[in-house]
Amino acid sequence: MPQNLVSRRNWLQTMMVGPAALVGLNAASSIVKAAPISPKDNIKVTKLETFVLKNSWVFVKISTNAGITGWGEMLKDDAKACAAGALEVGDYLIGKDPRPVVHHWQAIHRGAFYRGGPIKSAISSGIDQALWDIAGKCYGVPVYKLLGGPTRDKVFVYGTPDPITGVRAMKVGPSGSRKLHKYLEGHKMVDEAVEKFAALREKYPDVDIGIDFHGAVQPTTASVLVKALEPYRPWFYEEIVQALNVDVMADIAKKTHIPLATGERVFLKWGFREILEKGAAMILQPDVNYAGGITELKVIAGMAEAYYAPIAPHNPNGPCSLAASLQVAGCVPNFLVQERGDREHELLAEPLPPVKDGYRPLPKGPGLGITIDEDKLMDEVGEPREYQPQYDADDDSVVDW
Ligand SMILES: [Mg+2]
Repeated sequence: MPQNLVSRRNWLQTMMVGPAALVGLNAASSIVKAAPISPKDNIKVTKLETFVLKNSWVFVKISTNAGITGWGEMLKDDAKACAAGALEVGDYLIGKDPRPVVHHWQAIHRGAFYRGGPIKSAISSGIDQALWDIAGKCYGVPVYKLLGGPTRDKVFVYGTPDPITGVRAMKVGPSGSRKLHKYLEGHKMVDEAVEKFAALREKYPDVDIGIDFHGAVQPTTASVLVKALEPYRPWFYEEIVQALNVDVMADIAKKTHIPLATGERVFLKWGFREILEKGAAMILQPDVNYAGGITELKVIAGMAEAYYAPIAPHNPNGPCSLAASLQVAGCVPNFLVQERGDREHELLAEPLPPVKDGYRPLPKGPGLGITIDEDKLMDEVGEPREYQPQYDADDDSVVDW
């Protein structure tokens, strides 16, 4: 830590211990002591680094002259492009105070003439998480407290039903003897998919089960499936079709009373605006790693609130993704459930508070509330996974997956 910060902090603590004790402000005293620096202290970004892992997770680490670091995560498709793009943003950030996070979000987004899309949004998202991590550590509080929370104490999660964790919500894909990827599936494959889900419903009568179509089912088949599966009470239908044509999704939404969910391939507030305005989904699933970070998820949740819709953040990724999503859960009112909120992460120096009765308690630590084990992370750095086109086994044509 630079000398000016050390001496200023010592001065502040000395000042607070005496007068605060006299007037009974011990709480204020402890706040100052808990925070590594004062809001009035200078702090500057000194370095931005990126790490691409062998499983394609991409991390960004931002360092400061106060010895405080922040971590974030980005998209796992186009992993190397995200990592390189974040380094370019580093040219803007280095030398600046990291704490005006929303201001930096605006500068990074609007500083580019060409905006949006998965890669640029992912770069903003990872950096946004890291900056909030730093801001929270500077002030000695979790990010959700900086953003007006907590709005809840614990976060409902879905993942693997388990009597120990109490998880009682899950998600599956629709499939028969194979995935339903042809442009129009016949009744045999539709019947197989329904029978499979009916068996799952019988096995888990009390579990909420979402069905993730993964955008791989074409609209013609999806229209048939939504009606055929209804009697078995799916929790929601996710990415019923690709999210690139919102009108098609909105048409299917009108054909079923089961709520549609989407968002893992929708970016920034403008992408979600169209979903909401057209009634294409009533459960929004923005991903904190590429929909715009913590800053943007809070905005998207606010937009959704006006439509009485909740958010259920997408999350198949790493520890920053989960921790940042928990921070969002702790500062918005309309939070439904956290995807893979029951997943434990080996890249953490200490585990998150364990899932109990189906809920993950909010982390109490400052910033994102996690510490990355950098040795473990470095062991996983390597070439990301290969590109993944999928083909129809019958005619070798390219299919969605
Ligand atoms: Mg999905």
